[in-house]
Amino acid sequence: MEVRELLRENIRTLSPYSTARDEYQGSLGIYLDANENPYDNGYNRYPDPHQKVLKQKLSEVKNVPVEKIFIGNGSDEPIDLVFRLFCEPKRDNAVSIAPSYGMYKVAAAINDVLMREVQLEPDFSLDVDKLLAATDEHTKLLFLCSPNNPSGNCFPKETIERILKTFQGIVVLDEAYIDFADQPGFLSRLEEFPNLIILQTLSKAWGMAGLRLGLAFAQPFIIETLSRVKYPYNINVVTQKIVYDRLQTRPDTQIQTIIAERKRVSEALKTFPLIRKIYPSDANFVLVQVDQPRQVYETLIAAGIIVRDRSRIAGCEGCLRITIGTPEENTVLLDTLKNM
Ligand code: PMP
Repeated sequence: MEVRELLRENIRTLSPYSTARDEYQGSLGIYLDANENPYDNGYNRYPDPHQKVLKQKLSEVKNVPVEKIFIGNGSDEPIDLVFRLFCEPKRDNAVSIAPSYGMYKVAAAINDVLMREVQLEPDFSLDVDKLLAATDEHTKLLFLCSPNNPSGNCFPKETIERILKTFQGIVVLDEAYIDFADQPGFLSRLEEFPNLIILQTLSKAWGMAGLRLGLAFAQPFIIETLSRVKYPYNINVVTQKIVYDRLQTRPDTQIQTIIAERKRVSEALKTFPLIRKIYPSDANFVLVQVDQPRQVYETLIAAGIIVRDRSRIAGCEGCLRITIGTPEENTVLLDTLKNM
């Protein structure tokens, strides 16, 4: 399968916007090319549309060549862009697992693309035959999220490999939570799968949700095409600078603490009478099933603790999703629930 053939016709032939900084790339000089305010205040110039310095740093951190990295304004940006690249509105469709991250469906709807959702099994495992049976000749995208939000589980690597090898379109593998998992994910295997786009984000383990920086990794042709379609200056000056600085230090200690706390919280919750079930998690949250989700939710709110009520989502009946906080915050959570 040729990825080029999967692109929408208008994207294949698109002449992208060329910025002032594309036409001239020297570093010293008098810039009278971009209609900026000339008085230096640290922010008066447009950011690098290609994020070269930051990409180089991310390439070192992730051990992926720069040509295989796309930087987005959160991973929500590449989620939207893949629809714009590959799906002809009203004609093409996408397939996703369910329950999963809500933005896949919203981005499909915004782009007027039909999203077919394939329900996971009651234990959140994935029946690949069922998933593939939902695809047809108009299915351009297949979304997988591993570890999955809100269930927290990873799918076995053999399952993901089989999908990558069988599906004749683009597989978007969202690894937003992979840093909390005990398996490595697919980043080191990009080479093997020309139809794979991996999404990661600095919003979770790296602690930069407020800066908005998401990543897509794929073969260079896909990265180039994403870059042609994105807003020219999608990553602002402040984000490029602060993210670069913060990438100097890996958040390994925090990740280890969050993983240890996930275990402590899960084991404590198991002993509480109100908890019906705790789903095993490879992410920085746990999904728990209770008899009276709304009542538990309200009790937590009254104690100043906000969790996510997922109880009305198919497959998550009775479930709350609880993010792992600091040890102190988790202790308050456990103390509040213990006596319910
Ligand atoms: N993917 C998944 C699975 C998520 O849960 C989230 C955020 N909750 C995102 C992507 C989006 O992350 P961001 O836009 O902050 O990079």
